[in-house]
Amino acid sequence: MTYYNLESGDMIGIVGGGQLGKMMAQSAQRMGFQVAILDPDEDCPARFVAHQFINAEFSDIDALNQLGDISKVVTYEFENIDAQQLEKLSNQFNIPQGSQTVALLQDRLTEKQTLESANVQIVPFMEVKSTEDLNEAIETIGYPFIIKTRFGGYDGKGQLVIQSKEDLDEAKKLITDTPCVVEKYLPLFKEVSITATRDIYDHTVYFPLQENEHRNQILYKTVVPARVDLEEQAIQEVQKIMTKLHFVGTFTVEFFVTEDHQLYVNEIAPRPHNSGHYSIEACDYSQFDTHILAVAGWHLPKKITLLQPAIMMNLLGQDVLNLQEVFSEHPEWYVHIYGKKVNKVNRKMGHITKLSTDLNKDENQFNQLFEGRN
Ligand code: ADP
Ligand code: MG
Repeated sequence: MTYYNLESGDMIGIVGGGQLGKMMAQSAQRMGFQVAILDPDEDCPARFVAHQFINAEFSDIDALNQLGDISKVVTYEFENIDAQQLEKLSNQFNIPQGSQTVALLQDRLTEKQTLESANVQIVPFMEVKSTEDLNEAIETIGYPFIIKTRFGGYDGKGQLVIQSKEDLDEAKKLITDTPCVVEKYLPLFKEVSITATRDIYDHTVYFPLQENEHRNQILYKTVVPARVDLEEQAIQEVQKIMTKLHFVGTFTVEFFVTEDHQLYVNEIAPRPHNSGHYSIEACDYSQFDTHILAVAGWHLPKKITLLQPAIMMNLLGQDVLNLQEVFSEHPEWYVHIYGKKVNKVNRKMGHITKLSTDLNKDENQFNQLFEGRN
């Protein structure tokens, strides 16, 4: 694959105009690039920070070609773009993230098979297409288990935790709609993630190990640095995964940590990730800066430095309504509101980052303030 070195002023095309596309665009513009966004939602957040906007479905091949024609590089903010179309596009246009990674990672089954082939530790899983498969999975994996649709899930959508026989009907319903995987539901001590960026010169930078707390399977809070001594081990797992995936740009590997401090790879996001948002204020380069540098064919810094420990809290629809009145009482908060037109319960509407000198104290304060969100 050949890559382009962009010059300041060149156009970067981004497929997807959500908050990730918006923050990518803002980094790109700080470096002097122009940005074109393609998104089906005419009110998408990134539209209003872009030079050009193409209002079209992600499957609209003419629109994707138009984006390619006007851009020196095309990148994407999410992995559910059609991998076959992306492959065709990447033969025509400069798409350093490539299509292979998306093809493997948008399907939880091939994602898990890729992780197995990379020899990293993953949670026991089975493919489930029928009631017979489900019965076999129950025998092998046992209760409690979690069933996940192979395609299209995010923020816990397309997932069900099955505690016992009583919940089985729901799982059966899910598999009649769509192929799934079943995996053991682990009691978790912590969840952590590593965000990394690889440039076209095969140099990779790692952001610090991030400690993530989920509520209702949606990211609630990220604390950095993670309060568990597993960073080196996590980086080693990431390096094993990278031998199996051709990838340029920012990506994140999510891990589970069990009570006995075993590290399991959960999933990989081939794009900037919610758990890396703190890097905008807390690191010398943000995950969006490094992504733009990488896809523009520029060099990455030698390493990423965490300037100060930080806590990032997601603002869901209900949190914005609850907390907007107190924003003015907290000059120490970096408040980001994405500008989504419709506010919904459990929809990610923004986030807050606080640089911290006392993580445990600040974490308690945030927990009190966010109480009652569920
Ligand atoms: P998504 O694509 O929605 O992020 P994940 O597979 O990462 O899907 O699941 C979302 C969250 O659900 C995880 O971060 C974790 O909190 C919980 N979860 C998922 N799988 C398991 C599991 N096997 N055991 C325990 N918790 C899990
Ligand atoms: Mg996840």
